[in-house]
Amino acid sequence: MESMPGWLFFLVAGVAGLELGGMATIFIQRWIDERPMLKPLRSACPSCGHTLSWRDTIPVVSFFVLKGRCRHCDAPIGGQYMLVELSCMAWSLALAHHFGPGPEWGIYLVLGVMLVAGSFIDFETMMLPDRVTLGGAVLALAAALILPEPGWLDSMAGAACGAGFFWLVQHAYRLWRKEEGIGTGDVKLMLMIGAVTGLTGLPVVILAAAATSGAACAVYLLRPGSKGLRTRIPFGPFLSLGCMLHILYGQHILRWLGL
Ligand SMILES: [Zn+2]
Repeated sequence: MESMPGWLFFLVAGVAGLELGGMATIFIQRWIDERPMLKPLRSACPSCGHTLSWRDTIPVVSFFVLKGRCRHCDAPIGGQYMLVELSCMAWSLALAHHFGPGPEWGIYLVLGVMLVAGSFIDFETMMLPDRVTLGGAVLALAAALILPEPGWLDSMAGAACGAGFFWLVQHAYRLWRKEEGIGTGDVKLMLMIGAVTGLTGLPVVILAAAATSGAACAVYLLRPGSKGLRTRIPFGPFLSLGCMLHILYGQHILRWLGL
């Protein structure tokens, strides 16, 4: 891969991001609908059940060719899923730009796509699949043996402290407010995120998640018809965003904060 011309690598990165994004949309749909992941192999229209041919499932392209509608029954499909595909493509290109060809690009691409899929599911259902959180933790711990940063010891410490800290906050909140503040899915997600960023990266992740979720809360509260402070918003997407920001800009953020 080292000898590949730059433009070709970006092309590969863009297509790989879109394709993984397409797979993520299938995972999201099937997880939410509690359908088997691999059966049927081909996706079907959620409205009329027609099996979609390969040319109807090309990420983004098919959406525009079909104008966001099913070829058979004309039901609108795929609008929100195009957002997933485009997010994954943008993530892949950002990684390609930051790391160049190499194992970092591939490993962080897969981990980031898992975080994007988990975030969309969390927004829809307020739940995070174990396949994303625990699966991602195993993958990130294994990847720490290959990647130069953060090193496997820091990665293990990050997983233990990230999950441990959120577990403590979860139990403290339960005792204090007698209700659920942080879900167990978030605790498991921190196992994965801590393993990705290492212990040294956790402050950046938590600061970024707090800042972005605070901003999102303000938008939620100002929205007409909001239920005020009773509005529940998922925390997983913001932790995921913090983790992805750390992968790209962690060192800059730490330097900027003077740490
Ligand atoms: Zn249809």
